[in-house]
Amino acid sequence: MATSPETEHPVKAFGYAARDTSGTLSPLTFSRRATGEKDVRFKVLYCGICHSDLHFIKNEWGFTTYPVTPGHEIVGIVTEVGSKVEKFKIGDKVGVGCLVGSCRSCENCDIDFEQYCPKQVLTYGVPNFDGTKTYGGYSDHMVSDEHFVLRWPENLPLDAGAPLLCAGITTYSPLRYFGLDKPGMKIGVVGLGGLGHVAVKMAKAFGAEVTVFSTTPAKKQESLVGLKADHFIVSKDEKEMQSVAGTLDGIIDTVSATHPIAPLLNALKAQGKLVLVGAPEKPLEVAAFSLIMGRKIVGGSNIGGLKETQEMLDFAAKHGITADVEVIPIDYVNTAMERLLKSDVRYRFVIDVANSLKAE
Ligand SMILES: [Zn+2]
Ligand SMILES: [Zn+2]
Repeated sequence: MATSPETEHPVKAFGYAARDTSGTLSPLTFSRRATGEKDVRFKVLYCGICHSDLHFIKNEWGFTTYPVTPGHEIVGIVTEVGSKVEKFKIGDKVGVGCLVGSCRSCENCDIDFEQYCPKQVLTYGVPNFDGTKTYGGYSDHMVSDEHFVLRWPENLPLDAGAPLLCAGITTYSPLRYFGLDKPGMKIGVVGLGGLGHVAVKMAKAFGAEVTVFSTTPAKKQESLVGLKADHFIVSKDEKEMQSVAGTLDGIIDTVSATHPIAPLLNALKAQGKLVLVGAPEKPLEVAAFSLIMGRKIVGGSNIGGLKETQEMLDFAAKHGITADVEVIPIDYVNTAMERLLKSDVRYRFVIDVANSLKAE
């Protein structure tokens, strides 16, 4: 007779979960596995709210199974380690981002690109290798193989640093991989939300001259003063777009609504690179000539591997990079989701899990 997940996974956990496509989050008691020999168990202190969480709880990508406890920008403090854990001890500050598993043996895993492993296990809402489902960080604690746990730098704030685990690595990785991390480069950032505002900070820390592209003229002040971007362009304004034609080495495009990319390709220098990290539902239109005449490249990038995510956290700590956050109690989460849908947040909500999640 098959044992139930409850007996197989004896550790009670408590969090917030969506139960249907309304996406409404409410308290849920569930089970997590006992601490395995390579596992790290930690109490969740803070968890960022990523736009993916919103897509996922409403099943907008079509593979959500309910109930789902979202959250993949998780920071906490270690409460238990398995007998073969080498990197962590009780009391350490740690983080978990978008991944809690991968095959560890494919060619992507071999070169620390677990984010492209075909067998990767997302932090929430998918089957894990043992057949159980993963639950994210809107919960009292987490358990993960130590390979997928990040060491939290001593001087990096826990609350404002949490969003780096998704928004930070999503923007840091393409800047590094596509060689857009050299001082003096001219870098564009399209869209000023959770991802975009961190992209500006990362690019500035690499020594770039940064131009923000936004459809919202009202974001000029916050771009130039708040985020210390060098230039601001209203992307709907053809004249302004023409004024930057042929000037940029690279562009990080964070926009997930359908938008024209021809004007962005036009803003690139020869050999320039446009990297998509937002994911519009409909295909984007690219004219071959806009690439050929200038040997330009359109690429994409998804989060980062564990080694690079650690490197990014250490880089952020060294350069004082955090997200701009609004810290909220967990019972505010449904209101936060409504506001996120309207882009009514500067720029990331972070749930104060430890101080607001109370077991029933
Ligand atoms: Zn995310
Ligand atoms: Zn793999």
